Formats: sequence, C-alpha cells, structure tokens
Amino acid sequence: MSLVVVANREPLRQERGRWVPAVGGLATALLPVLERRGGTWVAWGEKEADAVPRLAHPPEAPRFTVRRLHVPAREVTGSYHGMANRVLWPLAHYFLERVELRRAFYAAYQATNRRFAEAVLEEWTDPATPVWVHDYHLMLVPALLRAARPGARIGFFWHIPWPPPEVWQVLPWTRQLLEGVLGADLVGLHTPEYVANFLATCRTLPGAVVDGQRVRWQGRTIRVEAHPIGIDTARFAQWAAEPRVRERARRIRRMAGTPLVVVGVDRLDYTKGIPERLAAWERLFERYPQWLGQVTLYQIAVPSRTRLPSYRLLKRLVDEQVGRINGAYMRDGWVPVHYLYRAFTPRELTAFYLAADAALVTPLRDGMNLVAQEYAWVTENGVLILSSLAGAASVLPEAVAVNPFDVDGLADTLHEVLASLADEPGRRRWDARRAALKERVAALDVHRWAERFLASLEGSPVT
Ligand code: UDP
Repeated sequence: MSLVVVANREPLRQERGRWVPAVGGLATALLPVLERRGGTWVAWGEKEADAVPRLAHPPEAPRFTVRRLHVPAREVTGSYHGMANRVLWPLAHYFLERVELRRAFYAAYQATNRRFAEAVLEEWTDPATPVWVHDYHLMLVPALLRAARPGARIGFFWHIPWPPPEVWQVLPWTRQLLEGVLGADLVGLHTPEYVANFLATCRTLPGAVVDGQRVRWQGRTIRVEAHPIGIDTARFAQWAAEPRVRERARRIRRMAGTPLVVVGVDRLDYTKGIPERLAAWERLFERYPQWLGQVTLYQIAVPSRTRLPSYRLLKRLVDEQVGRINGAYMRDGWVPVHYLYRAFTPRELTAFYLAADAALVTPLRDGMNLVAQEYAWVTENGVLILSSLAGAASVLPEAVAVNPFDVDGLADTLHEVLASLADEPGRRRWDARRAALKERVAALDVHRWAERFLASLEGSPVT
C-alpha cells in the first residue's frame, strides 16, 4: 500500500540540474520505503517551489511524487525561523531563556500548518493510504487531517526531545499544539523518557485520559511508542571499507601528527555543547600537561541557521575559544584544535571516524544524536564518550557516559580514556564494549526503524 510522508524538508536536492536524494536521516529512511510502496512526500520547496511544484522520482521510472509547497517568505520567517527554530527548538531542548514568545510566530505557524494540510489533502487520493507526519514544524497537521478524514490512519513522529509538562507550561499555545499532535493514531518518539514526558504532558490536557501508553481523547485512542532511530549501517560499512576512505583516515592522522586523535562532529548549534567541550579540552591541558603535543582534536562544525543572531553569536564565541586555545598551547607544528567550519559528506566523515581514537559527543540535549551511532559503528579501535543527556545514551549504554555541563568531569574522563589508550592491553579493555555498541547500532538500523513504525501504525508490529 502506498504512503504519504509529510515533512518540512524535501527528500531530494538539485545537483548539476538533476534531482538526487538528500543527505540526512529522514530521506535515507523513507526514500526506499516510498520507492517500494509508491506514494507522495509533501514538503516545503525551499527554492523555487512554484517553478517545480511536483516531481516524479526517479525521473526515468517514477516510483513516487514529491509535492513541493510554496510558502511565502514572510510566513517562513514566522513559522520556520520563528516558531520552529526560536520557540519549539529551544523549548524542547530545555533552553527556556532562549524561547522568544511572539504571537506573530504562532500565527504564521498556524498558516503554514494549514498550507501543509491542504496540500496533503490534495495529494491523498485514497483515504486508506496511511499518512506519516514528521516533527516539530508540523504539530498542528495531524488534527487538521483528522478533521477532514476522521477514519484515516495517521502517524506522527517527534524527532527531538519531548520535555516534561513543567517546561511546556512556558508556552501559551501548548494546549493547541498538543491537540494538533493528538490528531494522530500513533505518536512516535525516540526514547522511553520522551514517551513518559509526552504522556505526562497529555495528563495536563483537560478531557484527555492517559491509560498506560495510550491516550483517550475525543472518543479516539492514541498510542504513544518509543522508536529510536538508527543509521544506514550498510552504507557506512561500505564507505569504511573503501581504500580511498582508509587512505584519507591515515592522512588525517598524519596531519594531526600526535599519537592520539579525538573527533567531534556537530552542527554549530547551542544544544551541542561545543563551548563546554572546548573548555574541557583546554582544562585537560591545564590539569594534565602531559597531553600537550600528544593528542589533537578535530572539531567539525557544520554551519547552521546562520540567519539567526544567536547562532552567529555562537560562531563568534567558538571562533574566539579555538583561537585562544591554539594561541596558548600551539607549539612545534602541533595544533591542539583543528577547527573545521564546514559540512562534509558522510563518506568524508567516515574517514574521520576511522581516524579517531575517541569521539566526543557531548550535546547538552539531543533528541537522538546520530553521530554517536555512526562513530560507534565505524570505529575499529576507538572509544565513544557520550553525553548522558542525548537520546543516544539510552540506546548505547556501553558508551562512556559524561555530564556535558561538567567541564572538570569531562576533562578528567578524557584524561582517563586517553591514558587507557596509551598501550595495547589498555586498548583491548575496550573491545567488548565496542563490540556491544556495534550490535546495538546494527539493531537500530534506520530502515528497520521506518518499518517498525509503519508496521505499528498499520497494526502489525514487527520485532
Ligand atoms: N553530517 C554530515 N556532514 C557533516 C556533519 C554531519 O553529513 O559535516 C551528518 C551526520 O553524519 C549525521 C547528521 O549529519 O547523520 C547529524 O545528525 P545528528 O543526529 O547527530 O544531529 P542533528 O544535526 O540532526 O541535530
């Protein structure tokens, strides 16, 4: 049976005049499903949607359609840059002081959500086709669809953390947003903790009754389930085996020129804990000067949301911090932090993962964090240091868990991990945990994630 996917981002991008699959978790997970089942992906056509409102893909033998919505620039400012990125994003990641409450943001968000719902209704010709709506940009869409098609099968997935009800109290529109989501039959989140928080938030909604992992609301029953997303394990394994990727990994190590290499890979976002991580790196050299000249950090920071002043400020802060650390400790050709402010392809990232003796994945909050899974999967002799405040911590219990706010604790953990990697017997002590992590990542594979959610939505859970 075919499928309608609704997401803010489109799954294809233009490359030299051709439409090719976009990089990223959701496109990777759902394009194969759409190719197999047929159907439609409804998304905001960020560029020139009015010129190309509909795409059949693949062009030579179309299997599914992408419906690209035009959203007027002013509305994008309010709904996407405003409500989504300056209200819901900081709120869900517990950054309450960054939430900017403006009525105009919510009004634009309502308009954009209505626009999406209308487009879905145009494309959704067979009411028996399930619809799968994604993420915090589109919270009102499930209820709008439900109002038009009461008997439809609608799924909703929330890809970021769902904080407890005390946090949601900050928003004047929590009730409306929650009612929007409860238009779905199945609500998916990444971890049991987010599920518990979601159910607790539903308990604050007058008229809603929570019973186990179900919510009864307006005569319907909504199921709430944890479905942790994974990575495309087959493709990462393939890249990791390529001779040129392995050669690149060796080059990365040579360029560092130190016995040990550590890597950090993040969008430049205040939720990722980059300043805290760099402070811990600095603290490492202050407290354990034996590491000077012995270890190099590659910090990849992908430019993100550069329109927003708070992100530009973060960039300045990180630039200065890196400059200070390198200025203070650089010597004899050794650079303590190689700071790379740009995006790499997943294949290029694989080389960094192969090269690194440890990965520092220390977000202050993160819905899942796929970099943690990618590193755990690709590394052959490395150690994953992982924030206990990332969703990934709940699925990767064999990682070295850290509190990303605790700069001293992070420096101490780094010292201990690096010290353990100094000799072969020490290194081998990590083998069992590394193998266990690989099994976990294999089981979470992104294709299975999509299948599991859809099977549950369609009433036949798979294991
Ligand atoms: N990524 C990438 N190029 C880069 C840096 C990151 O393709 O230069 C990918 C990375 O492989 C991962 C994703 O971006 O799959 C980041 O996902 P994550 O869950 O870690 O964080 P998000 O950016 O979604 O908050």
